[in-house]
Parts: sequence; structure tokens; C-alpha cells
Amino acid sequence: STMDKVVTKQKHLTLNEVERICQRALSASGLNDIATAAVTDAVTTAERDGCKSHGLFRISGYCEALLNGTVDGTIHPKVKDAAPSVVRVDAGGGFAPPAILAGRNLAISKARTNGISCLSIHNSVHYAALWWEVESLARENLVALAFVNSRSFVAHQPGGKRKIYGTNPMAFGFPRAATAPAPAVGQWSDAALSDEIHGPLVWDQASAAMARGEIQLCQRDGHTLPEGVAIDRDGSPTTSPDAALAGAQLPFGGHKGSAIALMVELLAAGLTGSQFSYEAADDSDDSGANNSPSNHGELIILIDPVVTSGGCDGYLQHCETLFERILEEEGTRLPSMRRYANRRKTPLEGITIPLSLYDEIVALGDA
Ligand code: NDP
Repeated sequence: STMDKVVTKQKHLTLNEVERICQRALSASGLNDIATAAVTDAVTTAERDGCKSHGLFRISGYCEALLNGTVDGTIHPKVKDAAPSVVRVDAGGGFAPPAILAGRNLAISKARTNGISCLSIHNSVHYAALWWEVESLARENLVALAFVNSRSFVAHQPGGKRKIYGTNPMAFGFPRAATAPAPAVGQWSDAALSDEIHGPLVWDQASAAMARGEIQLCQRDGHTLPEGVAIDRDGSPTTSPDAALAGAQLPFGGHKGSAIALMVELLAAGLTGSQFSYEAADDSDDSGANNSPSNHGELIILIDPVVTSGGCDGYLQHCETLFERILEEEGTRLPSMRRYANRRKTPLEGITIPLSLYDEIVALGDA
């Protein structure tokens, strides 16, 4: 009924204001300046690109983790030159963005020297979207693949009832001709980015059929779920958000998505020496209510296409012909085009968030 339609009061913000309230809230919660700059960049660019689920919505979770000691805000990541092609970063139980930035330059130079390298991060808390790291590496003219595990929410399919996997995202970044170089952290407003015709090709997706945040929004708003995204405690299909959160989410694409979730789990946690998602979940409550970030790992693979293509001139132009072929058909777009379109628009129009969310973040900054 119309009675159910609560009109939420909104607050309009410029991106400078987004950056400022984010910075204040994180600093006031005890996060050191370097990490604050990195996380603020991830949050501000998410708002800029229209990725609401990883924008200001996440701030209270970040701050809660700092305030309750899940994350130590004073920690600085430790970078180790582990092998000619391997950089290992101990994030020290801190957030992933500063750990990525700490190891990034060494991993880039190793990829250029050896053609390929990997950045292996352990003991980190990833609570952000993955396109942030792969897009920035693709702007260095490198191909990048990133894998992250989380707290277990997703059942192995077919046959599994228990939560085993995280929502286990992976992301892919591929350089394109005529993109601008990566701006420094905090330079989200870099004019070169909004003027370029297109950014690198990027996709970034969870291996769950539906994002956990979306299930929580359905629960809040009293909506039922689509079929095929979750099972209840007994392993029966359910469209009830409550039953789904108490039961388990399903991977996308049946056994194929399940295999990808398994691969991400092994690459992000097994290979980096981090907690598996089910281990991270053991200390959480069973109602599905625990939303705080968990301690896990991330693996990033960097490939230098100049080396793999034998220095062949024009490999980027060759790849452009594939994109053209795809885009010739009506109704198609490349992944990341939605974000790049928002990126051109948001600096002019600003963003809106619920007033209650704005008040909450400002209060965290005043504390
Ligand atoms: P979506 O299903 O919304 O999008 C997945 C990808 O598909 C995006 O790259 C998107 O590009 C692209 N895409 C969507 N629609 C189209 C289309 N019509 N044509 C071409 N490409 C399209 O993402 P998910 O819900 O799976 O994941 C959301 C975010 O959650 C990700 O950023 C992920 O990193 C993050 N995440 C983080 C976790 C963590 O622990 N840190 C855990 C799980 C998820 P575009 O953006 O341009 O629409």
C-alpha cells in the first residue's frame, strides 16, 4: 500500500564533501593518515562511479571495525620482496587498500622486468570493490586479475547446505589504447579521467548469485528474493530474506559458479596463507546479522602485455577491434562503461545519500 512507501529524506553532497566526511569519520575512529587516504579514495571513487554498495554506505562498518578493535588503525603494512616475481604484503590485520598501495609499485616493476608478477596480501580486511585496484593497474598498461575471499555466506553446489565460501569476488583489468595514466591516491577529481574517451576494460563481480547487501536491502524493505539465489537452513530453495540469511547464498551458475568460488577461495586465502572464509566466519553469529569485515587474503596477478605479445606493435589496437565488434550490436555495452559514464556526470551533479546515513557519518567524525 502507499502507506508502506516511506519517503526517505535525502542529502545532496559534492564529491569534495564525500571525501571530507569520509576522512573525518575514519580519522576520528583511529585510522592512521596513510590508510585513511587509501580507504577514502576507494569510498569516494565508488560514490563517483555510482557504486553505492561500496561508497559511504560502508563507512559505519569501517569505523565499527576500528572502534571495536577488529581492525588496528595504527598498523602499517609490511612489504616483502619474496621472489623475482612475488611481492608479499602482511597487512597486519589492517584494511586492504593501504596494503595494496604499499606493495603495488614493487609488483609493477617486477611485472615489467619479468613479464608477470603477483602481489600476495595476507592478514587484510577487504571491504571495498575490486575494480579500484585492477583499473589502476590497467592504467599502468598491465593486465590485472584480483581475487578476494571473505566471511562464508555461500554453499558449495550442487549438494551443499552449509556456508563455505565468501561472496568471493574477482576482477579483471585490461589496458586500452588512449587511456589516461592512474592518478595518485586522493586525486579522484583528475580532469584527465573525465576527459578520456574510455578507461581500461574492467569487470568486477562476486561469485554469489546475488550480492549480500541486496539481500539485506530486501529484508529491510520487506521484499521477497528472486528464485535461485539462496537456500534455507535445511538446504531447500527459499525466497525469504530471513531464511536466506540464516541459511546460505548460492553461487551464480550452479556448479560452474561454485567452481569459481572454490578457485577464488584457494587463490585468495590458500595461496596467500590467509584464513578461509569458513574460518573467518567461525567467530560470527549464525543469524547472518554479522556484517563486520573479516580477516582474509587477496591475490593480484599482473601481466605485462608488451612482453607476452613479443613487443608486437599494435596489440592494443588489435584488441580494440574485438571491442568494436561487440559494440556494433545494439543493446551491448562493455563492463565498466556504466562506471565511466557516471564518472563524467557525478563531478558536475554530486551525489545523494539518505539523510540518516549522512548524519551517522558526520556524528562518527565528531566523536
Ligand atoms: P554486478 O553483477 O553488479 O556487476 C558485475 C560486472 O558486470 C561489473 O563489472 C559490471 O560493470 C558488469 N555488468 C553489469 N551489467 C552489465 C551489462 N549489461 N553489460 C556488460 N557488463 C555488465 O556485480 P556484483 O554484484 O557481482 O558485485 C558488486 C561489487 O561487490 C563488486 O565491485 C565486488 O568487488 C564487490 N564485492 C566485494 C567483496 C569484498 O569482500 N570486498 C565481496 C563481494 C563483492 P559496470 O560496473 O559497468 O556495471
